[in-house]
Amino acid sequence: MGDFPIHSVLQRCATAVADQAPAAMFGLRDEGYASLYEQLVSSLISVRTYDETSTEVSRRLFARARTPEEMIALERQELITLITEATFAPAKADNILALSQTIVDDYGGETPADYDQLIAFRGVGPKVASLALGVALNHPIIAVDIHVHRITNRWGYVATSTPDKTRDALAKKLPQDLWVEINRVLVPFGKHVCTGTRPKCSTCPVADDCARVGVEHSR
Ligand code: SF4
Repeated sequence: MGDFPIHSVLQRCATAVADQAPAAMFGLRDEGYASLYEQLVSSLISVRTYDETSTEVSRRLFARARTPEEMIALERQELITLITEATFAPAKADNILALSQTIVDDYGGETPADYDQLIAFRGVGPKVASLALGVALNHPIIAVDIHVHRITNRWGYVATSTPDKTRDALAKKLPQDLWVEINRVLVPFGKHVCTGTRPKCSTCPVADDCARVGVEHSR
């Protein structure tokens, strides 16, 4: 599908979910939690945690500590309590404290705006680093989560078996101005329209452009 109208499709998807809550990190950024450090921490908190929960948890945490210096001043137990609703709270608290300490000790308190340096932090994988750099700094990095993976495959825009392979395929064909945008739009679109089971194809604004690969049951 070399002529897939990706700009127009994403624009229609964005319009369809304009009234829905934005993906957690984009929402936090728009509330003012826009620094790379805040985005890195909230991205870490969001791993395997519902968007609504991770947004709440991040807000509560940032009310107490918004910088690496403020974070390492917290007691470990207090940090665990602040983020307790996130999955794996004790491990995430340890990772947040460790990376904050390293940022203070080795980087003079400035979170390094570099993918390789970010993924060197314990607990920070490719998705967390990509999302933080993309959302905070608009770095042209594609953050592929399960929604982006599922929907671009249903469209027939890519044909891949894992989110990692989808990221590689998108890097080859997705126009760069959409690399951050695709995550911002397709997370809420995947929750409310092109859902995991029984997507709402009958009212979908991009149905005419969608190959519906692998979709057997829809609404
Ligand atoms: S037509 Fe169906 S499968 Fe295709 S994007 Fe819309 S909801 Fe998803």
